[in-house]
Amino acid sequence: MSNQFSRPGILFVISAPSGAGKTTLVEAIRKTPNLFYSVSCTTRSPRAGEIDGEDYRFLSDTVFRERLQAGDFLEHAQVHSDYYGTLREPVLTNLQNGVDVLIDIDTQGAATIRNCDDPLIGGALADVFIMPPDLDELRRRLRNRGTETEEQINRRLDTAVREMELWCDYRYTIISGSVEEDLERFRHIMAAEAFLSRRLLCTGRC
Ligand code: 5GP
Repeated sequence: MSNQFSRPGILFVISAPSGAGKTTLVEAIRKTPNLFYSVSCTTRSPRAGEIDGEDYRFLSDTVFRERLQAGDFLEHAQVHSDYYGTLREPVLTNLQNGVDVLIDIDTQGAATIRNCDDPLIGGALADVFIMPPDLDELRRRLRNRGTETEEQINRRLDTAVREMELWCDYRYTIISGSVEEDLERFRHIMAAEAFLSRRLLCTGRC
């Protein structure tokens, strides 16, 4: 890009029913240079191997509620009986500094961001839904993960059915294949979004 041009960061929102392969995909996308990954806050307990501050910020109910009251969250939602929230400040600061941001949130959170009246957020948003190939495959992936009981799997599948109906609210839908395929498709979206004329600010003679 000519140095006459600059742009604010792009806000990539990714949603997928749990088990759709999103975690692996997000881990790969997080390695993109000049991309800030927004680590969500949650009241749920850490799963084996999850690291506080890297996978989530694990908060008590009380601290989560305090931060909510203080207006610290850009969006928050209750998912499967736990609370999840995106911290406002790091997202806005990075977008303003021209750094792209990735947030991994559920369909409720994505709807809140979509309806947000902050023009910086509205202009920056590029939302992507990862659609699992089918429910049998989703059940198989959840079972293979081995982190949930059969009851929890059934609850997640119920949520998945509701979430999958919302795919058309998103600007992009990726029908999930292998992780490599999903990653390649996501990278195409990232590249195309970076070329949108409306994002560019001309600072010189153009
Ligand atoms: P999990 O507990 O399996 O990591 O995540 C459960 C769901 O919560 C996933 O759909 C995930 O995208 C969503 N989630 C994670 N962080 C946030 C957040 O900050 N806000 C919202 N609304 N959903 C989130």
